[in-house]
Amino acid sequence: MSRQLATVTRIKRIEAIPGADVIAKAVMTTNSWQVVVKKSDLNEGELAVYFEVDSFIPRDNNGETDSRFEFLAKSSAKKMGEVDGYRLRSVKLRNTLSQGLLLPVSLFPEITDPKEGDDVTDILGILLYEPPLPPMQNSMPRTALRTFPRFIEKTDQIRVQSIKPEEWTELRTHHYEVTVKMDGSSGSFFYNKGEFGLCSRNCQLIDLSGTGIFGKICRWFYNLFNRHHKKTLGFNRSVYSDMAAKYDVEQKLRDYCVQQGRNLALQGEICGEGIQSNREKIPNREQQFFVFDVFDIDTQKYISGEERRSLAAQFDMLHVPVIAEDYCIDGNLAAEQIVPHLLEFADGPGLYNDCREGLVFKSLSDPNVHFKVISNKYLLKYGL
Ligand code: AMP
Ligand code: MN
Repeated sequence: MSRQLATVTRIKRIEAIPGADVIAKAVMTTNSWQVVVKKSDLNEGELAVYFEVDSFIPRDNNGETDSRFEFLAKSSAKKMGEVDGYRLRSVKLRNTLSQGLLLPVSLFPEITDPKEGDDVTDILGILLYEPPLPPMQNSMPRTALRTFPRFIEKTDQIRVQSIKPEEWTELRTHHYEVTVKMDGSSGSFFYNKGEFGLCSRNCQLIDLSGTGIFGKICRWFYNLFNRHHKKTLGFNRSVYSDMAAKYDVEQKLRDYCVQQGRNLALQGEICGEGIQSNREKIPNREQQFFVFDVFDIDTQKYISGEERRSLAAQFDMLHVPVIAEDYCIDGNLAAEQIVPHLLEFADGPGLYNDCREGLVFKSLSDPNVHFKVISNKYLLKYGL
């Protein structure tokens, strides 16, 4: 499932911004984001295309600069891998929060028959902006990447603002576990039918250190090009294998799974030195792994929060901070107030930092129901 980043939506309201003539705040029918727009561009009731924050819009379309997005060059130019483009972030304009981009649907003739709610991410070639992974150069010569194992679910959550307004009728009845969202890199460790594996967010890492001649050739080239490096890390090291070693994950997971006759994946966030500028402020230049999910490979389901927390404790591993084990959305809130209320809840201290990235809500009754609430304070503080 790829994330819906560009959506056909309808302008519900255009609200004035005090002291601004040219710009105004737009509210949409299909989500709870707010965007600052040029008043002359859009009218209430009209269809438009909304691009979520974290969208990466490639600069070129069929080999030519796409003029429709050129105005973003100044504020949002970014490279992702080899591709030039624009990354949409949260900004404040005239003291008003603006997230994402809203443009008239008429600019996009490639969308034939646009309808409210249509996912146009692929038609418009919009990609998810993914921050660079923690450095692994030192490990590359003896680490190969393989596609993410199909028997584990990838970690991701929808942003609270992207939930369709009508879905709150049901969502507000759930009970939730609320944990602190930590800003690092996702890592998974699994035990499956005798095999232990390490994964980054999108790949499985294969250690080539035992593969004879190939490893030797890689090492020879590595040494040739890295003579000037004073400090050399081990050849098959990466933050993922560092974390596995630090917490002795393989042994603990193997013992437990063999004894219980289960196959499990521990998923968590690696935070600290060298990762997302250590915005988590992990002390002593360390890196730490915080469990946030345990996936049962046999049943293809996430285990409950309660069981996960006790398993993390039993393994003597860290768990993301738990804000509430059983949280209900205040029944007195009007539907339109839910998202603003949750956004306010998301602002607050983290484990080491005084401003956390946000919160993650997981339903206690339905493991498929989960969403993230990112603190706007955090986004603005770090220009994300
Ligand atoms: P994002 O970092 O915006 O891509 O949001 C999704 C990611 O948040 C997941 O892939 C996890 O790696 C990460 N994450 C951090 N803290 C948590 C948490 N408490 N629960 C679930 N996911 C988390
Ligand atoms: Mn993240």
